[in-house]
Amino acid sequence: MIKHNFSAGPSVLPKSVMKQASEAVLNFDDGLSILEISHRSKSFVEVMDKARSLALELLGLEGKGYKALFLQGGASTQFLMVALNLLEKRAGYLNSGTWADKAIKEARIYDDIYEVASSKSANYNYIPKGYEIPEDYDYFHCTSNNTIFGTQMKNFPKSPVPMVCDMSSDIFTRQIDYSQFDLIYAGAQKNMGPAGTTLVVVKEDILGKVSRKIPSMMDYKLHISKGSMFNTPPVFAVYVSMLTMQWLKDLGGIKAIEKENEKKSSLIYSEIDLNPLFKGFAAKEDRSNVNATFTLENENLKETFETMLVEAGISNVNGHRSVGGYRASMYNALTLDSVKALVEVMSELESKA
Ligand SMILES: *Cc1c(COP(=O)(O)O)cnc(C)c1O
Repeated sequence: MIKHNFSAGPSVLPKSVMKQASEAVLNFDDGLSILEISHRSKSFVEVMDKARSLALELLGLEGKGYKALFLQGGASTQFLMVALNLLEKRAGYLNSGTWADKAIKEARIYDDIYEVASSKSANYNYIPKGYEIPEDYDYFHCTSNNTIFGTQMKNFPKSPVPMVCDMSSDIFTRQIDYSQFDLIYAGAQKNMGPAGTTLVVVKEDILGKVSRKIPSMMDYKLHISKGSMFNTPPVFAVYVSMLTMQWLKDLGGIKAIEKENEKKSSLIYSEIDLNPLFKGFAAKEDRSNVNATFTLENENLKETFETMLVEAGISNVNGHRSVGGYRASMYNALTLDSVKALVEVMSELESKA
């Protein structure tokens, strides 16, 4: 049976990528597995270089002073690494979701952190707007897509200070001017590859300005100087991320996938809006093209709905515990057919009810 995997992360990857990855587990280079080669071997150094250049190429950031790194520790480690490398006196954060809140908490260990705006009191069902970013901040931090709540920034502020963005759940999914950011980070496991590596894209000229001593593993400059090979990188995760970025490039890049993503999200949102059994969680103008959050109006239908989902091969649509209900994560590798399958179940439930 065809499986439709709406997991929020780790999540669906392209079938062709998984086939290539599984072949490389058996024989990557001259009879050796990708799991047993040296990260200093010529064949892996090529993989790392290719992954780094594909990331910049797909984002349109080649030749603009940016460097790409594949680090470990997840996006959660970036919460503190950003602060260690950029925070001298104070920084401004937009509190638009649980992940943003966690980023604030980590940075507060080091210094003054100001929330420029917050939607916490509304359980983060919208994106705060109309705030000011003071010129004397070291940087401004935002989260482009709030994975748990299903809200997404459609516009970004004009920031007078370096702009840092957690793009863990929507990097490579839509065309935006990525050069408006000075530092972008994203855990691989949502749009790029398996769990285990985190992409960091940083404009080199914002680094080296803080007075604190930075531990080696936390130091972007050091990782850049070593070509993202200061210590053993997560070889397999980088390899699969490289394959996924190559898959995206072959499809026509972000421009092409964005069209598909728009088809997927408009299909599910029109069902949520038209079907009286369901209600969207996020404010309409802010709702995410990658994570659609919704609830069932009549709890008595829960069991029927969930049985129908299982029968249709649909998995991982349960909402995060802080929102409840359902969440359909529609990352790049999820097909339009999978969304059609989900929408079919939703409308079938309406005809049964
Ligand atoms: C998943 C997610 C994270 C956490 O990523 P880890 O790699 O598990 O640390 C952070 N921010 C956002 C927006 C996410 O979606």
